Amino acid sequence: RGIRKVYAVNQTALTVFDGLSYKIGRGSFLSIIGPSGCGKSTLLKLISGLETPSGGEVFFNGRRIDGPPKGMIYVFQQYTKSIFPWRTVLQNIRFGLDSQKSLPAREAHEKCMEYVKLVGLQGYENYYPYQLSGGMQQRVVIARALICEPDVLLMDEPFSAVDAMTRAILQELILKIWSTLPITVLFVTHDVDEAVFLSNRIVSLGRAPATVREDVAIDLAYPRDQIRTRGEERFNG
Ligand code: ATP
Ligand code: MG
Repeated sequence: RGIRKVYAVNQTALTVFDGLSYKIGRGSFLSIIGPSGCGKSTLLKLISGLETPSGGEVFFNGRRIDGPPKGMIYVFQQYTKSIFPWRTVLQNIRFGLDSQKSLPAREAHEKCMEYVKLVGLQGYENYYPYQLSGGMQQRVVIARALICEPDVLLMDEPFSAVDAMTRAILQELILKIWSTLPITVLFVTHDVDEAVFLSNRIVSLGRAPATVREDVAIDLAYPRDQIRTRGEERFNG
């Protein structure tokens, strides 16, 4: 509500947001589009409490946030930086689980295996990140995020660094997850087609510096249970 964000760069002030108000519905798949440098990543960081607004307030579940709130997981733009190279697939995913709760070893292992399956990495449990393709590494990051059972998954151009085929597979995966789990997805992308394909709501940001020039929410109004059908249609050509 009334979000302002000013960065100080070389003694000049860069105003990225100047009074942005927007409400995101629970369970939505919101895509955020806009030109490079307009403030998309900044917006996700403000929402997830990784950046503090210069003015205004961010609310999550009716509560004003003050630092990273529980229940939100952020998948960074450069995901290879957030994967642990010295840990296997299973150990990377286990890290997500251990950060949330401590389970008996056997239960924890089973739960990790569930998420390995969810993202289709069976057989790769003991691989190290360098032995995986980019798309597979991204799946590890997604599994590690999801095992925390977040209410909100924030993804910053999560598929921009993978090839077109892998992207299509990951898009299917995220749609499957969204239509199966009770989760709100905030998804930043450069790709309008991707936004239209994936989300049920799109917000378009104008160019920074300044305020948000366009605050256009397009309600595509696809009911949740039709999402999978849309995906299957596309997959079957
Ligand atoms: P892209 O599509 O290229 O990822 P973006 O929309 O995510 O761009 P942001 O990363 O949010 O854009 O950056 C918005 C503006 O804020 C840019 O001009 C950037 O230089 C500036 N900016 C971002 N982070 C910082 C920071 N930590 N300190 C100073 N300026 C910053
Ligand atoms: Mg960005």
